[in-house]
Amino acid sequence: MELADIIRQSDCSLCQESLLEIGGVSNYGAAIIAKIGSLEDGWYATLQRKTPADPQTGFSVHIMPQGHLTSFGQIKTNPRLTLNYGLIFSSIYQAIEEIIREQSGLAQLGCYGKCGTSQNTKEHIHFKLFEESGGLNQPWPSDNPWSEKEVYITAKGDRVLALPVKKSILSQERVDYLSRRLIYLLNDN
Ligand SMILES: [Zn+2]
Repeated sequence: MELADIIRQSDCSLCQESLLEIGGVSNYGAAIIAKIGSLEDGWYATLQRKTPADPQTGFSVHIMPQGHLTSFGQIKTNPRLTLNYGLIFSSIYQAIEEIIREQSGLAQLGCYGKCGTSQNTKEHIHFKLFEESGGLNQPWPSDNPWSEKEVYITAKGDRVLALPVKKSILSQERVDYLSRRLIYLLNDN
């Protein structure tokens, strides 16, 4: 992939969302809280309206490249894209930790990155950052405690037991507070 190949796709919701300015809200309710760089070397982040964490204490932030990258290896296409990735990732992580510490005194954050797979049709790469609460506070399939879980033989094949994970909608009051606080921490100081 060459620098000139980094484009914005008209049929990709994340590409279109990247056109919004900080403070803007996408048509599915995600608030833009940070932007860095431009199409070729830039990233942006959103506060999600829904979270799989405990909605009273947790929330979810997504970080995406402004251009339509489909592999994490493409971040190396441009040194500024790589640098901006490190800057926005670390800044967002720091801001989330500060907010969670203010509210509950303890910040335990999880993160995972996603790109298109056979089970995930969203090919535009994105990172999901969230408080480890609710059903998220359990071993993940790549963790040793997960692979050591007891296996049950069921009609659908071998299965392990995991806590259910459900997404909750944050209250409008909490969305307003969190987006204001995140925008302040990420842009005003
Ligand atoms: Zn895209």
